[in-house]
Amino acid sequence: MGATVLVVEDERKLRDFIRSYLEKAGFTVLSTGSGAEAITMAAAAAPDLVVLDLGLPDVPGETVARELRAAAAAHAAPRILMLTAKSSEEDRVRGLELGADDYVTKPFSPRELVLRVQAILRRGSPAGDAEVASYGRGELVIDEPRRVVTVRGTQADLTPTEWGVLVALATVPGRVYSRFELINRVRGYEFEGYERTIDSHVKNLRRKIEDDPGSPRIITTVLGGGYRLSLARDD
Ligand code: CA
Repeated sequence: MGATVLVVEDERKLRDFIRSYLEKAGFTVLSTGSGAEAITMAAAAAPDLVVLDLGLPDVPGETVARELRAAAAAHAAPRILMLTAKSSEEDRVRGLELGADDYVTKPFSPRELVLRVQAILRRGSPAGDAEVASYGRGELVIDEPRRVVTVRGTQADLTPTEWGVLVALATVPGRVYSRFELINRVRGYEFEGYERTIDSHVKNLRRKIEDDPGSPRIITTVLGGGYRLSLARDD
């Protein structure tokens, strides 16, 4: 893949562990245990993605995230995958709207982390770089550059919010996205609303893309969790 990832984690063992897995996956990896140093390194090396621990001893992760965003022009800012230690930190990530592209809660499997990093980078920058992706052996095709969704060969006419929800779910097929996460992810598409309003957007989306909206196969509901895209990505 060749992308550069900066790992910011003060626990040395965990840092080295993440580093070795990312290197095995083909990334160029820089690492540090200091938030202050992370800001300097990011400015010098312009990493594509920063794996950022929220709980750093010197500069809090949220401050580092803000600095990374502020230091770079919007199009050149690194993507951020936040590491959080416990559910209360998870809440901080959500509540502070850090602009993280995704987050994982410790303990996590290294494989999961690598998959998340790859998924974020594959998404490309919001400004461009987007691609055409197909799911479920071509049943669903999402053409991000042209903003066109094709289902079983027919173009679906989606509202901007429906488009945002679908693209968010397709980031990592099979992964469950909570309503709250979906709201955060479609915010870039001018969405404002509450968690339950996601349900009505999903309902409308299903009407447009499901064979039988009454028993959906493409976007499935996970009780107590949220929604997921149940088609595998064709690669
Ligand atoms: Ca820490």
